[in-house]
Amino acid sequence: MAACLLTLRRSRVCLSSGSTLLRTWSIHFFWRKRQGVHTSPGNIRVRFAPSPTGFLHLGSLRSALYNYLFAKKHGGSFILRIEDTDRTRIVPGALEKLQDTLEWAGIPPDEGPRVGGDYGPYIQSHRTDLYKEKAQILIENGTAYRCFCTNKRLDLLRKSALSRGETPKYDNKCRHLTDNEISQKMSEKIPYVIRFKLELTTEPWEDLLYGAITDNIADVEGDPVILKTDQFPTYHFANVVDDHSMAISHVLRGVEWQKSTAKHILLYKAFGWEPPRFAHLPLLVNKDGAKLSKRQGDLHIEHFKNKGYYPESLLAFICHVGGGFGTDQTAGMTLPDLIEKFSLPKLKKTPGRLELDRIDIFNREVLVQKLQGSQRYLLLEQARTLLIQKYGEDLLKNSEMRYLQGDFLQNVLDWSKERIYKLEDLLLPEFRFLWLDPPAESVQTLASATFDATSLLQSTINLLDNVTSNAGEDISKLLRNHSKILKIRYQLYMHLLRVAITGKKEGPGVGEMIYLLGPKRTIERLKLCHQRIEEIKKNSSVDKKWNDL
Ligand code: GLU
Repeated sequence: MAACLLTLRRSRVCLSSGSTLLRTWSIHFFWRKRQGVHTSPGNIRVRFAPSPTGFLHLGSLRSALYNYLFAKKHGGSFILRIEDTDRTRIVPGALEKLQDTLEWAGIPPDEGPRVGGDYGPYIQSHRTDLYKEKAQILIENGTAYRCFCTNKRLDLLRKSALSRGETPKYDNKCRHLTDNEISQKMSEKIPYVIRFKLELTTEPWEDLLYGAITDNIADVEGDPVILKTDQFPTYHFANVVDDHSMAISHVLRGVEWQKSTAKHILLYKAFGWEPPRFAHLPLLVNKDGAKLSKRQGDLHIEHFKNKGYYPESLLAFICHVGGGFGTDQTAGMTLPDLIEKFSLPKLKKTPGRLELDRIDIFNREVLVQKLQGSQRYLLLEQARTLLIQKYGEDLLKNSEMRYLQGDFLQNVLDWSKERIYKLEDLLLPEFRFLWLDPPAESVQTLASATFDATSLLQSTINLLDNVTSNAGEDISKLLRNHSKILKIRYQLYMHLLRVAITGKKEGPGVGEMIYLLGPKRTIERLKLCHQRIEEIKKNSSVDKKWNDL
């Protein structure tokens, strides 16, 4: 039965007449049709086709991700094709970076420049012979022609259209050259481009997301160049030739390409090829609805990576913005979850607003999952490495390396997951007290206080010596009672202890800090503070007012 169903899916012809089988097939087919899937599962081939013009940004990662999800959902292949025919825009190193980023994001292509594949090469500049050959086919079947117009003529055309307040477009002059005129110009070696004859079209095409679309582009454009004088193809031509020759079944790309699709479909028609199915992904815009700029550095994936965000959180965030899951609650969804739940018709059709500050929340979700799951120890290692990188020498100088012992670090991580968004946040100044002794000068105000700080510290040391409970709340209660016994205002007492423990006037609750550091380490800090005050007092008998409070 399974084998028969497989055969059936492949050939779409049922060799068995079992009615259950037929029903299963028709349900399956109906469902796949709703998803925009008409080919058999193994034939789903989608591509991400960036130009190597810089860093990958959130918009292009969105295209890559949705193509990946669609391919994986339907057992198909995800292809990376590099569209580098506009040689003037290439940024050195961008090609490698792009592939690194896809790998980092966890969505590597099944076929592409780095991994190869049966449909390569996957870099357009390595496929120029193919484009020349295909352009020749269009010349021979009369749907393309050589254009010998000079740049000067084209410039004049443009200027005169603008002066009449019209949109400039090529006047298709060379469409009408006779064979003799063409041979003559070629024998004179006059440089030429190849242009495609844009036919009038009123036939709608189906966008899987937006429905039927009719664009008569011949109304607004002149015949477009498909092969330039340098023999390099233009984007539209190479894109169509490659989508066909790489057997791409579905094109999922940004909505900015929707206007070009009618032109692409005319090209498929000129070749007599069946076009792939198209779905255009809505625009991504800033939080305030304004257009994104590719130059916005904060949109580069590299920027998020360097700041310590997890790829999983970026993917879940993109899915939250773009939809496709029947829910906006994608925070914490793993890639397999996203693949399983993804459904093309559920994609949002309205522009996706990027509320970048929300990425923090998505990242915390992943951080907590890792902390509670099998990656807990990896996280501890990473935290340790980060801390040593930042405080390395100081940690050693203060012989506080022991503070990075497993238990301590685990406690801190469990506590901090409500306070940090990414592991790197552990390096923020407010958490410095966790790793380092307070700076010596921080006790200065305590030494000049009107009350006897050293005896208060000593009494607290004695108190903590007997502490058995480890809970922050219990410690707070204990300290509150103790302040009554000592007859000192609780707030003042807490201020004293906070400065003694952290060197700062602000920070987490004192009970919480003692809980984190543990009574033993707290006592060490109180003793250090005690000793420092003694030294200051020894060196100066001047008693200053503690007017800082
Ligand atoms: N090279 C185009 C880009 O940079 C690809 C557009 C498409 O997917 O067809 O976005």
